[in-house]
Amino acid sequence: MTVSNSTPKILDALVIGAGFTGLYALYRLRERGLKVLTVESGTGIGGTWYWNRYPGARTDSSSTVYQYWFSDELLQEWNWSERFPAQKETERYLNFVADKFALRKDIQFNTRVTRADYDESSARWLVTTQNGERFSAQFLVMGTGGLTKFVMPNIPGVEDFAGESHHTARWPKEPVDFAGKRVGIIGTGATGIQVIQTIADKVDHLTVFQRTPNYTIPMRNLKLDDAARAELRASYPTLKTRVHNTFAGFEYDFGERGFFDTPPAERRRLMEELWQDGSLSFWIAGFREVFSDERANREFSDFVREKIGARINDAAIAAKLLPTDYGFGTRRVPLETNYFEVYNRDNVTLVDTVSEPIVKINAHSVTTAAREVPLDMMIYATGFDAGTGALTAIDIRGRGGVLLKDAWSDGVRTFMGLQVSGYPNMFMVMAPMSPSAAFCNVPTCVQQQVDWITDTVEFVRGQARGAIEPTAEAETKWVAHHNEVAEATLVPKTKSWYMGTNIDGKKQSLLVYAGGANVYRQLCDDVKKRGYEEFTLT
Ligand code: NAP
Repeated sequence: MTVSNSTPKILDALVIGAGFTGLYALYRLRERGLKVLTVESGTGIGGTWYWNRYPGARTDSSSTVYQYWFSDELLQEWNWSERFPAQKETERYLNFVADKFALRKDIQFNTRVTRADYDESSARWLVTTQNGERFSAQFLVMGTGGLTKFVMPNIPGVEDFAGESHHTARWPKEPVDFAGKRVGIIGTGATGIQVIQTIADKVDHLTVFQRTPNYTIPMRNLKLDDAARAELRASYPTLKTRVHNTFAGFEYDFGERGFFDTPPAERRRLMEELWQDGSLSFWIAGFREVFSDERANREFSDFVREKIGARINDAAIAAKLLPTDYGFGTRRVPLETNYFEVYNRDNVTLVDTVSEPIVKINAHSVTTAAREVPLDMMIYATGFDAGTGALTAIDIRGRGGVLLKDAWSDGVRTFMGLQVSGYPNMFMVMAPMSPSAAFCNVPTCVQQQVDWITDTVEFVRGQARGAIEPTAEAETKWVAHHNEVAEATLVPKTKSWYMGTNIDGKKQSLLVYAGGANVYRQLCDDVKKRGYEEFTLT
């Protein structure tokens, strides 16, 4: 790598990423009078909503809570058209925010950060981009996202495919034509499910290569008219506080009553009611024991299996689509629309890659242990190196030149997912050990974490010493607390990106804080109130 010797551009803060986090961090830090620049590798605003423009992409959070709360004017002006908005609408919303608050003038696109060095003598970060441009900033804010670094499957011949081939996280801006094509898709997570249910009736033939079936919930999407929007707007003043006081940052939360204190018939009634709501409330607004108690979890798992099974005509196909070896909700539960009905179609084939492994990918086909599947197009919905991936992709060197990648080689360590000891004034959002995408409605936790960071930056600017970092001891305590909370749940028993099991060689541990976004928010507030006892200033 060439490191340019050009004079670095001097900033108070450099924000990396122009998604939900980066836009808000830019807005907040600029509001406090800092000279801020946001750099973004893409050519447009949106982060996740810029890159993941695959067919069927939409939020699983309702639009009423998948937004910013900081401006009443924004809340009044923006009109959501659906309960669960599609990618294009969310991307439009973020562009609207960028224009309304004149953020674009402080965003530099086409700029990928490759390296960040902490200079101990000046207590500043020297940041280098792929083009050799350099920035010197007192504060570095990583708005790089928890689900950014996409991964291709580790299958022989993956690079040999000669037909059209797309990873969902790099979907082209130009329309993709499916007509008359034999399409193969690998991956049946939240992304794969959205793609499959959207393209099944547009292709000549679709072959779905599934490794692990998922528990899902049918989405009840609704178009919103003026009357519906007016009603929702009336709830905003309550909602903007409420989302910070619920387990997962949503409008709904677990009930007060315990699973075992509720008679079985009443439990069933509640489950049916939540199921009809058609949102993630079935998962995170039923009983909290679903996360921690095998018996409670089994009841939920059986209920979902029963619902899914009833929609699939062929018993042999149903057996492949019904999860049996892990519990409901211990990995991300996607919302779906007519997903299982896809497998009743004549032009769709389901290949279970556990009983029939993919042997290799060829120029025009996929060879499995049992057959050769001719294909014109391959779609990879194979997910992300979550949590750590986007951070370790950058050569981040803290005190003593220690690479973050090396500091984490024995396992991730952070203080509340916000900072790492040895990396002063580097702040992270949606990072490991905070309640990010897995257990939090992303905009809720993004806003809470950016607000905390903004206050902390202001605190540092009021001190004689210019850099803040958590002590190693505080970090060790947080890691222990994080792990204790994780171990009290059923989540570590299940393989998923939550545990890092989707990445070969990645040290397995729960990447996300499972204690609740509400509890986490309170703990962050307490740190501030106590005057940052867990930190040192240098
Ligand atoms: P993912 O949940 O990690 O799913 C990746 C899929 O690819 C899994 O089905 C995985 O199988 C499969 N896979 C990977 N390598 C494979 C291989 N070598 N052979 C066969 N199958 C392979 O990724 P994702 O679907 O992109 O979703 C990631 C996260 O993004 C979600 O959990 C969610 O948090 C977020 N998301 C949200 C929305 C929404 O809000 N609507 C939509 C999309 C994504 P295994 O399960 O066996 O590993």
